[in-house]
Amino acid sequence: MFFVVGWLVIMLITALVANSKNRSPLAWALLAIPLGLIATVVLACSSKLPAGEQTTMPTPANSIKTCPRCAETVKAAAQVCRFCQHEFSAPSAMAATNLPWTLQEDWGDGFGIYGYKGQRLAYNKSGVKWQTRTFDSPKVAVASIDAYLQN
Ligand SMILES: [Zn+2]
Repeated sequence: MFFVVGWLVIMLITALVANSKNRSPLAWALLAIPLGLIATVVLACSSKLPAGEQTTMPTPANSIKTCPRCAETVKAAAQVCRFCQHEFSAPSAMAATNLPWTLQEDWGDGFGIYGYKGQRLAYNKSGVKWQTRTFDSPKVAVASIDAYLQN
């Protein structure tokens, strides 16, 4: 029993040391099972990896869109939301009609630059772009601008 507890403590210490050196805590904890304190000592003597290798690069603001169902931001090219599995429908120009925005620059097929409450929106096949955000549908974009202007 003491043997098992001692081994778990070694695994825990190894994981903590690995984490402080920006190395995988799980991999090193598993390595500590056969090696015991040897893994901990080897790890403690190893150089620290530069931070940031585990962090993901920030996504450029213009390549994301807002999911209309869960309001999380996902990649603009995504077909399905990775948070709530919402399927993004391909935007159709028909969706541009019956909205309180006015066409300012006609690109054909209902696409173009639209004005809404003093805001400029670009609407093309990849969605509605407003400021740095891309929306799945014009309806969501207009609703977001309403919410933005109310704040
Ligand atoms: Zn979602």
